[in-house]
Amino acid sequence: MKQDKDNFETKAIRMQTERSSFGEHSAPIYLTSSFVFDDAEHARALFADEVQGNIYTRYSNPNGNEFIEKLCALEGTEDGIATASGMAAMYCSMAALLKSGDHVLASRSVFGSTHQILNNLFPRFNISHTYADIDKPQTWEAMITPATKMIFVETPSNPALDLIDLEWLGALAKKHNLILNVDNCFATPYLQNPAKWGAHLVTHSATKFIDGQGRVIGGAVLGTKELIKEVRFFARHTGPALSPFNAWLLSKSLETLAVRMERHCQNAATLATRLEGHPKVEMVKYPFLTSHPQHTLAKRQMRLGGALVTFELRGGIEGGRKFLNALKMISHTANLGDTRTIATHPASTTHSKLTDAERAAVGISPGLIRISVGLEDIDDIIADVLQAIEK
Ligand SMILES: *Cc1c(COP(=O)(O)O)cnc(C)c1O
Repeated sequence: MKQDKDNFETKAIRMQTERSSFGEHSAPIYLTSSFVFDDAEHARALFADEVQGNIYTRYSNPNGNEFIEKLCALEGTEDGIATASGMAAMYCSMAALLKSGDHVLASRSVFGSTHQILNNLFPRFNISHTYADIDKPQTWEAMITPATKMIFVETPSNPALDLIDLEWLGALAKKHNLILNVDNCFATPYLQNPAKWGAHLVTHSATKFIDGQGRVIGGAVLGTKELIKEVRFFARHTGPALSPFNAWLLSKSLETLAVRMERHCQNAATLATRLEGHPKVEMVKYPFLTSHPQHTLAKRQMRLGGALVTFELRGGIEGGRKFLNALKMISHTANLGDTRTIATHPASTTHSKLTDAERAAVGISPGLIRISVGLEDIDDIIADVLQAIEK
């Protein structure tokens, strides 16, 4: 898949807010709540959408605009909005476009808070959903009803790292005239561009690899002009705006996304290969390992295998907990996509409220460990994982 490999880095680095009279080389931070009108006619024209320009930072701000213009160029989408968190992006992308009576078809293994929106918030507004299994695509079409308006998926899935074929899904959405919304947070625009396969909306938690340094909460909704117009209206009047400071950090972070992802993926692939065949490791899952059941799809759909590796320790829940307690360098924290390597044990933390059967349905076995492989020296990462497995 051609992903504008030739100029991804250039766009990420060189697209920048117009230089001010101070001649700054690096874009400044526009910490201002509102923007001054030239005259009464300019104010009228801005509010009438007859001219482009910033009015008020809840609507738009040069730092957020720069971040979004870049992200659109990297994802291949027409338009977008920046949001204060990934969840604000997920919520706005759905709430702006759905109404009472509508139905969402979602992959079962979506992010926990996305589950909460679908399970516990949308039913209040009479918006229903069905979860489909990512590993049983043959069952999806039969779950589409006349009320279905949107398909919402994440690929690769968390934490099982199963993939959905985006080309197939794009065709399914087109056939049934549905909005395809892809949370592309795990892959980032560097590894995968869902819009090229027919996604109408591409949503991001920028908190993860886009910031990539564990500093900022942020998000984005990208997509077609037509849909983003609705999402922008919704966001403008409900207020999930990204702060100029966070937008500035995230736009800077995009400048290094390609080099960071290259190293993240190289480290992750090395760790996954090293764990495969270890006597105390039952199973290793990584999209670019030939043992991954969807290895061919991964190679077609993704530029590299990603920064997440999951593996199954013998010894169940206790084995997983012992492993985390034995780690010396690797962090135990509720995040991913950081320069620092992070380990989590989903069965006793993020997914502990599910039943065993529900966990099994999203590919979480009791001893499953998820590693978000960071940018430390790979020998140190491997040494820490191996010594913790031995304990
Ligand atoms: C973290 C995450 C989110 C939520 O993003 P926040 O920035 O924490 O609000 C949504 N989707 C996925 C896949 C995530 O990993």
